[in-house]
Amino acid sequence: MPAISRLQPEQLEIWTAQAINRSLSGQMPAYIPLLVQADRQKFAVQIRAIDGGFLGLGNADQIFPLMSVVKPFVLLYLLCELGEIAVFEKVGWEPSELPFNSLTQLQIDQGQPRNPMINSGAIALASLIPGENAVIRCQNLFHWLNQQAESELFVDELMLDSVKANPNQNNGNLALEMVKSGVIQDAEIALATYNRVCCLSGTVEDLAKLGMLLVNRGDRTISEHGRTVKALMATCGLYEASGRFAVRVGLPTKSGVSGAVLSVIPGQGAIACYSPPLDKEGNSVGGLFLLEQIAKSLRLSVFE
Ligand code: GLN
Repeated sequence: MPAISRLQPEQLEIWTAQAINRSLSGQMPAYIPLLVQADRQKFAVQIRAIDGGFLGLGNADQIFPLMSVVKPFVLLYLLCELGEIAVFEKVGWEPSELPFNSLTQLQIDQGQPRNPMINSGAIALASLIPGENAVIRCQNLFHWLNQQAESELFVDELMLDSVKANPNQNNGNLALEMVKSGVIQDAEIALATYNRVCCLSGTVEDLAKLGMLLVNRGDRTISEHGRTVKALMATCGLYEASGRFAVRVGLPTKSGVSGAVLSVIPGQGAIACYSPPLDKEGNSVGGLFLLEQIAKSLRLSVFE
């Protein structure tokens, strides 16, 4: 039985209550109007194990946008579709030391995105997704994901309107800088695709199912590239907090500004959380707290 299946529902309930409490110290992201309006107290978690078992708690029906949690899956899709050479021609694989949307970081790196888990890297990868426009590119991605993971992701058009209504100057500047450096050709389609894929939405169940793509060993191509994706999640997934989290928790993890967070327990399962308030690095306060409790008590760190 995978260690993750030993988790007791009563224990999960206690940690979840503590996580909700802690999350209240976090901040809501100010720059996407619909995200600021999210209910701070919402909390959902689902844990799925490789033996088919799962355990969930909280607002199971709550739909939320993946935001940056989609980044590992854009990477996985492109590795499977285009291969490693095409992908790592566009993005690096080293951790970044500045915030996820930092233009300075991109400029330090001469316009080459440091890794696929920060905005510049994901915008560069969005420009590689096959399809003649942003709608088709996003569709190609999520149809593939839904088929592989048996998830039910869809584009939340209201969220996308909200993202577009408040054009993110930061991301625009990142795209222009990458046009200058020759990493992307067309800033407009890259950004439109990026914004759309960030608005792919679902429940913690959908997110945990996506996580299982990086656990199951069924498909050889996915499992081959899954190793790369997990390594980059572990080293870059939580931005400037990635090193600290690797020491404390030791699981490949990716967060999003919506409060979504996903950890993969290689060979065992996946844990998906949703709790909107964020810490200063832009990671879910309650989500990271809960992951730490679970990983420590079950000794799930990949470095054990
Ligand atoms: N769409 C968001 C942005 O570009 C995603 C960032 C995130 O989730 N950290 O800012």
